[in-house]
Amino acid sequence: MDYTPVKGTHDIFGSEAKQHNYVSYVLKSTAELYGYKGLETPVLEHTEVFSRGTGESSDVVRKEMYTFLDKGNRSVTMRPEFTAGIVRSIVSNKYYATEDLPIKVFYHGPAFRYERPQLGRYRQFHQFGVEEIGLDSARADAEIIIMAVHMMHNLGFKTVNLKINSIGDEETRNNYRTALVEYFSKHIDNMCPDCKERLQLNPLRILDCKVPADQEIAKDAPKLKDYLSEASEKRFYETLSIINDFGVEYEIDDGLVRGLDYYSEVVFEIHAVSDEGKDYGALGGGGHYGGLVRSLGGPDLPGVGFAMGMERVVSVMNDNHLLEEVTDGIDFYVIPVGEDMLDEAFNLTMAVRSMGYSAETPLANGKMGSLFKKAVKRKAKYAIIVGGNELERGVINVKNLATQEQKEIALDDLENALSDLIDPIDEGCCCGGECDCDGECKCEDNKEGCCCCCDSKNN
Ligand code: AMP
Repeated sequence: MDYTPVKGTHDIFGSEAKQHNYVSYVLKSTAELYGYKGLETPVLEHTEVFSRGTGESSDVVRKEMYTFLDKGNRSVTMRPEFTAGIVRSIVSNKYYATEDLPIKVFYHGPAFRYERPQLGRYRQFHQFGVEEIGLDSARADAEIIIMAVHMMHNLGFKTVNLKINSIGDEETRNNYRTALVEYFSKHIDNMCPDCKERLQLNPLRILDCKVPADQEIAKDAPKLKDYLSEASEKRFYETLSIINDFGVEYEIDDGLVRGLDYYSEVVFEIHAVSDEGKDYGALGGGGHYGGLVRSLGGPDLPGVGFAMGMERVVSVMNDNHLLEEVTDGIDFYVIPVGEDMLDEAFNLTMAVRSMGYSAETPLANGKMGSLFKKAVKRKAKYAIIVGGNELERGVINVKNLATQEQKEIALDDLENALSDLIDPIDEGCCCGGECDCDGECKCEDNKEGCCCCCDSKNN
């Protein structure tokens, strides 16, 4: 028996699990701000969902799918990406007939690709993504791109590198394909076996090849922008202009084609950049798609969407210290002073939990020293010490485990006292730190702890 996880898979535990939950919470909440609803689809789909949807010429479908025959001899596949399954769900449930268009959904869960595992590349990984289906407009495309950038800012990234391109409509891609075939046919003998196949299946995929020698050849290949149809060019610049109006910066990358077959018109990738300017590569990407809904048996509806890789987002956020406060620690560790305080400590712990704070207490007797060590190991913010003498006086001691400061609090004021410890009132200026009140309060709520000039006015 091999007790190691399957190659390319990994366990997510404790603080890391909490970080994943936090990131997906921020992403979901942002999607909800834009009116998106959750849609959970099965991990397993009929294989054709991906072969027809994601596309026969994509590397994902050709080489990376976990496909097998189930006991009923049906070919099923563990989703390598979500979009095809989401569209399958919208078609099979006829949501396009019962919901207002566009249908706007978000999703989150594991995806599976048989890729070579390396840093940031797994065989089971998690994606969060969104799809907006049923409205063909540059504004819909722009809104989703703006939302993707908004999500990155909500996660705490100050700088986001948005790479954007248009791969045009069908006419564009047909003309471009012909030009690529002509160009690459002259070089194909010096290219990798995969590119030889790509030339037959979909020469656009060659532009995504990671083999350095092939990338060198691809540098001089015809450029997509020279083949954009008038309609696609107009649409692309309309999208850019809307994004621009919202102050979202972008970089046009005319080599960006994306690896899945269903894209048309605008495509984009989101890169995180550290304060020092380091580009971490793509955390997510997406674009507009034309014939996908129809190819999976639905009406002729367009869509636009994007997906982010959760493992990569969490790792880059950790690298940039954006998740330091998201740990699996607790608020309070309640320490009984001696065995006869176990019941009191247990009852107090339950009371603290009922006030909405996380708390633990040892369920068996232990020495004070080792219980304090446990409190630290459990990453508690505070230790509450429950002693017989103090209880007789109606008080307990609370120790801040970071500063070692200790103070007594009265049990009949427990809820207020704990709330002051965990959620202290912000004493800073509600005008945002640097006060420009000029003695005239601009704060809408005149909240407690407001800056001095507001206070003087309020008094
Ligand atoms: P894609 O569906 O290929 O457009 O990928 C969208 C995002 O998912 C990428 O930008 C990555 O962040 C993430 N991703 C894709 N493949 C993997 C993988 N094998 N392991 C981890 N993350 C991945």
